[in-house]
Amino acid sequence: MILKSKSAVVTGSTSGIGLAIARAFAAQGADIMINGFGKPEDIEAARAAIEAEFGVRCLHSPADMTRGDEIAAMIATAEKEFGAVDVLVNNAGIQFVSPIEDFPVETWDKIIAINLTAAFHAIRAVVPGMKARGWGRIISTASAHSLVASPFKAAYVAAKHGVVGLTKTVALEVATHGVTVNCISPGYVWTPLVENQIPATMASRGLSREQVINDVLLAAQPTKQFVTPEEVAAIAVFLCSPAAKQMTGANLSVDGGWTAA
Ligand code: NAD
Repeated sequence: MILKSKSAVVTGSTSGIGLAIARAFAAQGADIMINGFGKPEDIEAARAAIEAEFGVRCLHSPADMTRGDEIAAMIATAEKEFGAVDVLVNNAGIQFVSPIEDFPVETWDKIIAINLTAAFHAIRAVVPGMKARGWGRIISTASAHSLVASPFKAAYVAAKHGVVGLTKTVALEVATHGVTVNCISPGYVWTPLVENQIPATMASRGLSREQVINDVLLAAQPTKQFVTPEEVAAIAVFLCSPAAKQMTGANLSVDGGWTAA
């Protein structure tokens, strides 16, 4: 168990990829702070299941990733409760699909806040403790859209490209302190985030649901399969392992070959 006696904060982990990462870290022995929105009973069920299945502590933070003060308070609470934040995963993210000329300004601001600026707030809060302890792992869930664009996703693509720049910069700053900083770039993973963009993509491209799934989503992925949340989580676990200690500033693709094309 490579994360025994360690603790992790995973943002946006009440659902999808973040929940899979939280569960994979717990399986490796880490105490976990999950974060995100949802029905209180669903969040409590996910939290309690992590404690029961893996025998670790699991807390939920309701911090809103659009709020720097709430992000700082979430990290402070995790440090107080667990004694440290050894691993940070910046995973919370939202999507919105619209032609640029109709893109709502407030939606642009929200996507940049949650998908990019939240990582800045969380990273700056965890770095002092990681440097002091001489060990840390910072991982961000970027996207194939950190490397290539798709039409109608201006804010998302801009934010994800930004996450790569933030990752490289902080990796250089903490390189001699035992702290690695990387991002993982999935292709399409079947989660609520993908499900929710199907109606808007149908409208903006004039396609049926099946056409969006086969001709837009899976068209990008040479394997013609969705990535699973567990496959993304396995890479996050690997980045925490001793074998990955020289990997830093990297952007790891898990996209069924999408960005090779
Ligand atoms: P999801 O919708 O299943 O989960 C998103 C999580 O973020 C949820 O827990 C939600 O409550 C939380 N969240 C949303 N707004 C928040 C806020 N303001 N404050 C706190 N938490 C908030 O989505 P997912 O597909 O699991 O996406 C997770 C990450 O993976 C995102 O960064 C996304 O961009 C990225 N990603 C997803 C895919 C995909 O195909 N699903 C592909 C590449 C990258």
